[in-house]
Amino acid sequence: MKYDVVVVGAGPIGAIAARCSAEDGARTLLLEEHSSIGSPVQCTGLISTEALHESGLKPESSFVHQRIRGANVYSPSGHSIKIDGGKTKAYVIDRKIFDRALVARALDVGAEIMLSARATAIKNTEDGTVLTLRRPSIPQKIWARVVIGADGAQSNISRMCGLGRVKKTLTGIQIEGRYEMCDPDFVEIFLGNRFAPGFFAWAVPTTETFARIGLCTEPHNTPPYQYLTKLLQEHPTVSKNYKGSYTSITFGSIPLGALRETSAHGVLIAGDAAGQVKPMTGGGIYPGAICAKIAGKVAARGDPRRKSLAEYDRMWQKRVGKELSRGMQIHDTIGKFSDQRLDELIHLLSDEKIMNVVREYGDMDHPSILFGKIASHLNKKNLFILTGHMLKDLIKDR
Ligand SMILES: Cc1cc2nc3c(=O)[nH]c(=O)nc-3n(C[C@H](O)[C@H](O)[C@H](O)COP(=O)(O)OP(=O)(O)OC[C@H]3O[C@@H](n4cnc5c(N)ncnc54)[C@H](O)[C@@H]3O)c2cc1C
Repeated sequence: MKYDVVVVGAGPIGAIAARCSAEDGARTLLLEEHSSIGSPVQCTGLISTEALHESGLKPESSFVHQRIRGANVYSPSGHSIKIDGGKTKAYVIDRKIFDRALVARALDVGAEIMLSARATAIKNTEDGTVLTLRRPSIPQKIWARVVIGADGAQSNISRMCGLGRVKKTLTGIQIEGRYEMCDPDFVEIFLGNRFAPGFFAWAVPTTETFARIGLCTEPHNTPPYQYLTKLLQEHPTVSKNYKGSYTSITFGSIPLGALRETSAHGVLIAGDAAGQVKPMTGGGIYPGAICAKIAGKVAARGDPRRKSLAEYDRMWQKRVGKELSRGMQIHDTIGKFSDQRLDELIHLLSDEKIMNVVREYGDMDHPSILFGKIASHLNKKNLFILTGHMLKDLIKDR
């Protein structure tokens, strides 16, 4: 079997890459190890209006559950700030239907798909790449000029090509259950080391009475399940609003710190597999969609030489590289904050002048720009307090 482009992984990023490759006339095959698209779901499904646009879909009622205007952010001591975007800024989506809609678009423009097909080995040839697949009974070989590894957080393709692993992987857990949101068109974000050390916890509405409640933490000795139990039972806001029963539970990983190199002879890596995820929010669909479109187009040119494929690295770095690396620096710093520092941070943000900056520049896809703007609007005393604390926390941690 011979193809111009084979995309490993029919998640959102693989589907977008396959669509763009097929649109450019390349004979494209999408491989998925599972027997159906979009399962299991390992996502909260909160995506910005811009991320949906980058994915190439319209906000259809078939997968949009809820429209989101902003966020209520709670400090560890329970102080909260409301960030109101004033209009729809994001959607809460059904990931299974969303993923299927993206695959359907790829098939509409001529891509082919093979389900229950796991790529297990990859070997270079001079003019391309041979992939070994494991289908339920038969191993099979497929030849491609270019392979795109969009095989998610546990990517084997990047490892097999010697492109390495992302800097770190957070662990996440989430339930969908009965929950009374304070505002159904706002998400709730909970900071604090008691419930989500190193990251944050959330409640994201799916209906008036249901929400996805979850958290992510640094890899830890304590299983995330224990943090979730504590969040549901002991967090002052969550325990009051959670009504005690859930219909699904999800575990997943969030890779942070993009790979330095995402191209090798005959291979490109995109999406979670490349760590193209916003380090401050854990959102992978916005940066991944941008990179997938570039990967699909570069792969469709059909030149497997590293020199030619390296154009992909340059192009995605230009679009999202700075945001991802700045986001990683901020994540590394704030992730180490004590609860007291987090309280002080939220206190600083409650200032009316700073809130105006947040309203003007608040953008879930480019949070590092907002942080830069906030820093430039802090008076000298507050800037000194914040940076002084950051340094103290960092030194203490060494
Ligand atoms: C708890 C949690 C909450 C999240 N919430 C959000 C959110 O609200 N908003 C957001 O933007 N992002 C969120 N994310 C991140 C988001 O889910 C990912 O960034 C996104 O799914 C990445 O898409 P992908 O296509 O790169 O990888 P995936 O969605 O993981 O798809 C990879 C696909 O490859 C397949 N595959 C793997 N290996 C092989 C193989 N060898 N052969 C064939 N197929 C293979 C897998 O079966 C899978 O279908 C969240 C993640 C977690 C864990």
